[in-house]
Amino acid sequence: MSEIQNIQWFPGHMTRTRRQIEKSLKQVDIVAEILDARVPLSSRNPVLKSIINNKPKVVLLNKCDLADAAQTAKWVNYYKENKITAIPIDAKSGKGLNQLMPACKEVLSEQIAAWNRKGMVGRPIRIMIVGIPNVGKSSLINRMCKGGKNGKAEVQDRPGVTRQNRWFTIGKGFELLDTPGVLWPKFDDKLVGEKLAFTGAVRDEVVDIEALASRLLEEVTKLYPNAVNDRFQTGLENITEMEGYDILCAIGKKRGMLISGGEINTERAAYTVLDEFRAAKLGRITLDQI
Ligand code: GDP
Repeated sequence: MSEIQNIQWFPGHMTRTRRQIEKSLKQVDIVAEILDARVPLSSRNPVLKSIINNKPKVVLLNKCDLADAAQTAKWVNYYKENKITAIPIDAKSGKGLNQLMPACKEVLSEQIAAWNRKGMVGRPIRIMIVGIPNVGKSSLINRMCKGGKNGKAEVQDRPGVTRQNRWFTIGKGFELLDTPGVLWPKFDDKLVGEKLAFTGAVRDEVVDIEALASRLLEEVTKLYPNAVNDRFQTGLENITEMEGYDILCAIGKKRGMLISGGEINTERAAYTVLDEFRAAKLGRITLDQI
């Protein structure tokens, strides 16, 4: 099996980040935890649970356009069994986003009834987005805010709310905090770190790109035995038993990626594999399977 050395990230700002999220949490009624539908487990930060405490939550399985639809359906079901509403979305096209507000209403139904009893009828529901880098937080906020009046986000400044914290009216009775909570990726488990690197949550600069692509080829082949051959037409018969690096070389060769002397340009091949995987050209692939 191929080895990737040193997937690391730098936890310097964890405490500050945590405090910022805790501060914002006081102003919202519900948290939308955004995950990458291709890695719904690995893109979670388990610490979130302790940060949000008992705050109501919905889960958004973003980038569902890139993930295996059958797996996404299973994940939605998994969450349902755990009494959590999970919604597959594609923040880029806006698919699924119309389910967010009804889901929040449903989750908060008791709270809304209590507001109504207190005469706070029509009290807006305030939502905040949280997630690790690159899961699509900004895309989602931009998308939601396009639904504002005249196609523009409606921004309100409230006294007592710091300038960074602004509210977008995203629909009748709903307000979205403009600044998402950025959680840090968490991986004690090596494979989790690798999966985050495959999907781009860990910057490519901090990993050996050829080792990363080799590991990706092994993982994809394990779960979807035909995906690599279908895409790259390498004609490899025993691909499921091969080392990732050898598959990478075969891909480089097939694509004519050579350096002077006829050697295979494995670095170029590695970038190609990663780019094409991330664009779902190897098919819609989910790496955390249920
Ligand atoms: P953030 O770091 O969590 O704010 O993530 P961004 O919103 O910057 O998104 C990271 C990358 O993922 C960008 O290249 C987005 O275009 C892309 N992206 C976000 N959401 C989706 C989605 O639902 N589908 C696809 N295909 N790409 C997405």
